[in-house]
Amino acid sequence: MELLDDSVVPEEARDIKQEAREFAEEHIAPNAEEYYRTGDYPHEILEAGQEANLVAQDIPEEWGGRGLSLHELLAMTEEFYRADAGIALTLQLASFGCEILYDHGNEEQKEEYLRPVAEGDQISGLAVSEPETGSDLSGVSTFAEKDGDEYVINGEKYWIGNGVEADWITLYARTDDSDNRYGNHTLFIVPTDIDGYEAEHIPEKMGFRASKQAHITFDDARIPEENVIGFEGNGFLMLAEFFNMGRVVVAGHGLGLAAAAIEEAWDFTHEREQFGRPVSEFQAVQHGLADMLIEFESARALTWRAADKVANHEDSGYWAAMAKTKATETAVDCAEQGMQFHGGRSVLTDRRISRVYRDVRIPVIYEGASEVQRNLVYGQRPGT
Ligand SMILES: Cc1cc2nc3c(=O)[nH]c(=O)nc-3n(C[C@H](O)[C@H](O)[C@H](O)COP(=O)(O)OP(=O)(O)OC[C@H]3O[C@@H](n4cnc5c(N)ncnc54)[C@H](O)[C@@H]3O)c2cc1C
Repeated sequence: MELLDDSVVPEEARDIKQEAREFAEEHIAPNAEEYYRTGDYPHEILEAGQEANLVAQDIPEEWGGRGLSLHELLAMTEEFYRADAGIALTLQLASFGCEILYDHGNEEQKEEYLRPVAEGDQISGLAVSEPETGSDLSGVSTFAEKDGDEYVINGEKYWIGNGVEADWITLYARTDDSDNRYGNHTLFIVPTDIDGYEAEHIPEKMGFRASKQAHITFDDARIPEENVIGFEGNGFLMLAEFFNMGRVVVAGHGLGLAAAAIEEAWDFTHEREQFGRPVSEFQAVQHGLADMLIEFESARALTWRAADKVANHEDSGYWAAMAKTKATETAVDCAEQGMQFHGGRSVLTDRRISRVYRDVRIPVIYEGASEVQRNLVYGQRPGT
């Protein structure tokens, strides 16, 4: 069964989709179980992805990347997450936050920080969430205080992809305490080797185990004022714009995971026999499989529509939130049904379905929990 077919993918994104599929079949899928079990960081697969020009390649050509479009990123994402979500996240997080820099940074910043990521010599990260603040982006408290021609940073960040491994991160920090909640934050480039930057891995996770997140502490960490991205006070708006694109890509995480769940459920129910016949011959099972397909195709149609809307800057917040919610929740539902159809074998930890079942819990949370997405869908509906 070909779930991630080309028909919904625009012509421009089909070549990269094929490249991503071949890479996923060779490098991601065969290693998924092992990295899930060990929880190791997949250095070798990341290097292979960099060599294959499939990592950080949304960075524009003038800074060393391929300038992949949102549609190309989405096509690649579906394929990678179908093969394994944890490894896929590591590949994608290698350039997390770079979009903000190439959209809003100055020429010197782009030359110094983007090019090494595009060329596979460095990796980045994006530090927004904190131990006490996740969903409320305007409430984060890590403070960057101006001191002459420098900023002095104090505070903590939590859940930060590559916080330990990255060469530099994009930091979202408070620079003001005014009543304008949306004008109090600024984005900075922060090299991870400066004094006052400490990072350690957070405890082991049940899902996405081949990706690494960190708890970062800033203790009087100093950066030059040249490291401000855009201008002071504009961080919230830049981040909101970035998340519109990011959430379409996270919808792709959901589609890849849902496809994996359906494939596993389909194969198992057609092979497993009870009462003298494959369990797929029972109508209840057929209806369950049909519902998975209906939800998957709905989510996929919506996601590709949202990609068009976001690429054209048409009600981006609304469409991105809607696609992320639908596709990531579809992955949860398909994994749940897939587990039920596996009977007792569902809970064997080396089964793909049990890995998918654990992984699907995460995209419904990161880049904004589903409840927050529903707030956005309601609040940003077209015409308001
Ligand atoms: C594997 C993983 C990787 C991540 N990577 C990164 C990263 O690289 N960089 C980064 O900055 N962050 C990252 N995050 C953090 C992620 O973005 C946050 O976990 C997410 O935004 C939710 O924040 P929280 O966990 O603090 O939950 P909270 O904000 O505490 O929310 C808890 C729950 O409360 C409910 N809730 C919250 N607000 C509302 C509301 N307004 N209305 C209704 N219900 C609500 C929801 O059910 C929500 O799940 C990552 C998280 C995970 C799990």
